[in-house]
Amino acid sequence: MPREELKMEGQGSVAVTVRKMNLTPKAIIHQKFGPKACYTVEEVQEPTQSECPGLCIPQKGPSLYRCRLELPDVLIVTDTFKKKKEAEQSAAEMALKKLGIHPATDNPTAMDLCDALVQRLKYLFSEEFLSSSHPLTGHLRGASRRAGDLCGSVPSSVFATFDTKLSNICKSLNPKVDSNPFLALPIITSAATRLSSSVLVSESRLSLQRLSPYPPEVFYSSSVQQSDSSERISVDAIYIPSSLDEHVRQVTLHLSSSGYYMDIIAEKLGVENGDRILLSRTLGKASSETRLYFAAPGYHLLEVSSDPGAVKDNPLEGSLNARASYFCGQVVHGDAIMASLGYTWRSKDLFHENLTLQLYYRLLVSTFPGGTYKLSREAVLAAELPSRFTTKAYWRGSFPKEVLSTFCRLHRLSEPAFSVISLPSPENCLSRVHKKVKLKDTSTSEMECLNERPTNATGETDSMESGSTFRCEIKIYSKRRDLLMECSPTDLYKKQSDSVHNASLKVLSWLTAYFNNFGIPLEQLSSYGENLGIQLYPELFFREFVLYPYVGDNSIGRNAEQKLLESKCADMLYSLSEHGVFSLRVEGCDSGAYPSNGSLLCVSYSVILATEGKEMKELLEQKDEFEFEMGTGAVVSSLEAVVTQLSVGQSALFNTRLPPEYFVLAAGTDSGRILSFMSSHNCYLQYSVSLLHVTEPPEERMEQALFSPPLSKQRVEYAVQHIRNSSAASLVDFGCGSGSLLDSLLDYPISLETIVGVDISRKSLSRAAKILHSKLAANTDIAVKSAILYDGSITVHDPRLCGFDIATCLEVIEHMEEEDASLFGDVVLSYFRPKILIVSTPNYEYNVILQKSAGSQEEDSDEKVHSQTCKFRNFDHKFEWTRQQFSEWACQLAEKHNYNVVFGGVGGTDGVEPGFASQIAVFKSKEARLVEEGASGDGASATGMDSELGYNVIWEWKKSSDEQ
Ligand code: SAH
Ligand code: MG
Repeated sequence: MPREELKMEGQGSVAVTVRKMNLTPKAIIHQKFGPKACYTVEEVQEPTQSECPGLCIPQKGPSLYRCRLELPDVLIVTDTFKKKKEAEQSAAEMALKKLGIHPATDNPTAMDLCDALVQRLKYLFSEEFLSSSHPLTGHLRGASRRAGDLCGSVPSSVFATFDTKLSNICKSLNPKVDSNPFLALPIITSAATRLSSSVLVSESRLSLQRLSPYPPEVFYSSSVQQSDSSERISVDAIYIPSSLDEHVRQVTLHLSSSGYYMDIIAEKLGVENGDRILLSRTLGKASSETRLYFAAPGYHLLEVSSDPGAVKDNPLEGSLNARASYFCGQVVHGDAIMASLGYTWRSKDLFHENLTLQLYYRLLVSTFPGGTYKLSREAVLAAELPSRFTTKAYWRGSFPKEVLSTFCRLHRLSEPAFSVISLPSPENCLSRVHKKVKLKDTSTSEMECLNERPTNATGETDSMESGSTFRCEIKIYSKRRDLLMECSPTDLYKKQSDSVHNASLKVLSWLTAYFNNFGIPLEQLSSYGENLGIQLYPELFFREFVLYPYVGDNSIGRNAEQKLLESKCADMLYSLSEHGVFSLRVEGCDSGAYPSNGSLLCVSYSVILATEGKEMKELLEQKDEFEFEMGTGAVVSSLEAVVTQLSVGQSALFNTRLPPEYFVLAAGTDSGRILSFMSSHNCYLQYSVSLLHVTEPPEERMEQALFSPPLSKQRVEYAVQHIRNSSAASLVDFGCGSGSLLDSLLDYPISLETIVGVDISRKSLSRAAKILHSKLAANTDIAVKSAILYDGSITVHDPRLCGFDIATCLEVIEHMEEEDASLFGDVVLSYFRPKILIVSTPNYEYNVILQKSAGSQEEDSDEKVHSQTCKFRNFDHKFEWTRQQFSEWACQLAEKHNYNVVFGGVGGTDGVEPGFASQIAVFKSKEARLVEEGASGDGASATGMDSELGYNVIWEWKKSSDEQ
């Protein structure tokens, strides 16, 4: 290629060149003016700028610098900068502009680069180089074994790929080389033509060849192992056809130590020889030798597509290989081979490793937002990236921040930018209300007293600075530093790392939604993003992921979902099919030990690919011990839905429809069998899982550490006592959970005839149903005639619950927002109007004692950190009240609705600071005649005020008439 053209390549890219070659503006000024350039830097003390209006601690402004640059004809004075160096560079840059010096046109940089390129090539072909350990030497040796004309000829792309110095120079001359390696070839070829005395350039073949053979003593140096020239090695690789109609498949490369491996790859790709083969960057882990090999396209494709983003308009045009391009982020035309082999720095022998289809699909899965998490847990079919980060102690697998960084790296984006903002403890500002602070709008006056101060995300220091809280913002940039999205959640955390991980999870869950629903309308994506505090820059964002929709093999046999739906288990308490669970079978006896949200569960499980009607089965995934935190979405929803139905020691067997094929193929080892199953039969997954043990969530552990009997038991007993004394006939338990109170009531001789539970958690309700059912069925002399469980929110009316004798609501209100707690109070006392209402909630003031006691019992240091950082007793608590706050809430309600209220509690002693651990209010209606007077209703009569039903019956039991 003539030299003129090479110069053309350099045009327009010199700004980048200058940076890469360290020719800073200052350096150019120095080249031109030498000592005549005189810089003076002045320190400026800026007055405190109130960057955020709410700044309340006066701060000394940081030192800033201003630079004055004197040149023979010019004087420059810059703005202020944080660093002296920046001020100087800026001065130099301004001077260059003023002098009309455009580095792009009239400085020798581009030519210098060409010279550097020629020098580098010259060295690479020297005898001295061949005895180095550079990976290229393996190619030079390998090429010398090629036959005929090709002997000694090395593909130009090999130079561009393996010599970093060479490729950096090419990228400096033309930045587009980064995304389209083919563009490096003309640059290298052109530079090599200047070495006509030592290097032969074959333009037609895209290769370079040393003119004179190496002297034998260099070539056969002792360090090189001479292998038997007839040795043959078989290496498994992956063939990725450019046509999406064809499946990715395994191929075997038969390498021989007497040939050159690039020729073998070429042959498989149907290309005449290795010279035309291009190599991608390495894929996956940094240490990997896995690359894509593909034929250089014709020249006409050269300019069309310099980066994958640009092919957006018609990605399937021509021979673009969307799958291969997606993996390497470079434009790949035609079929490609993914192989893990090559010469390395470590050894002159050809490194090679088999690539299986499973590895291919694992690599694919790793590019999905939660994919590296699944892989880090080695549980592609069971694990799911949790939706929130509660505590390090209960987290398993890669941390969210790392998962996000890896995602960005694998998609060749810039490293995500985390910024943590530290705020003084909310107690100082919102002294009355102890609640998880949610900032609705950071610009409102709510923020007035908060001192926003960005700190380093990796924050070595002050991460546990007492009394402050943290929130984290994340920005995602493309490689070119275009802002693609930003996430600024308002949630506050006591630990920096918790804020970083939770913000990372928000970004990842948005990305997951995007990846799972390709083609979802932009408005939907944006509004989902808004809920997470995410702002999207759609144009730039979509450009980065344009090839993603083409990567899955969607043509493989459809699954048996429809048929499975028909055969779904009819006797399930409530349909698990919304989680994709079919044919559930539970084994083992009910131990009564059920997990609750926030528990750490340990299960063993296996997943089998099963075919309908046939006996064929293939084990895909298996674990003897697998731990996860319940309620965070740490496992696929079908598995979580089933496991929460189990008591410790029980097992379950169930089926689900197939997930996308790539997950199945990434999980199982025998890809051939799996593929043939899936393409010829209706397949489904069969999970079997056993609940091995449960570690209680912090609230229970803290309470158990201190109280005997446990606080929860004491609460229930307190309520049972009241209920028995009242001789009431009907009771409703609002927020009954798994039915602990209703269950205990049945252990005592009681007057109750009607018992009802209401909750919004279907999981808890179905457990309550199980427990109540077995107890009521076994015990014929119970007075209870009817028991009903309703699914519904206790802030909503339902006429069926009006006029009950007693209502209870134990440890529920703190799980609602404060507004809802008040709403519940109004609804229950004005609409339902029970004669007695018993409400319990934690006493915030008691937490000091609980946490101290739990802390002293923990050996694990992580747990200790945890108990300090969890402000409330349970992650699900929205608030916890002091005695005064609770009393204000209850007294106001009582007065408003004509009730009396008295206070009591359990755990601790009345009158002794800091009061009871659980505080309890007992409301009594002033109007109601005493229950003892025999005015009890049957509890089921509607008042007719508003007869619209608010709740759904989940389970109902009636004593059969002959028993009555
Ligand atoms: N009362 C039970 C459970 C307490 S846990 C016990 O003492 O063991 C709190 C319960 O409140 C959970 O089961 C949760 O599902 C339920 N809950 C929270 N908000 C609710 C609402 N708005 N309506 C009904 N139940 C609610
Ligand atoms: Mg609670």
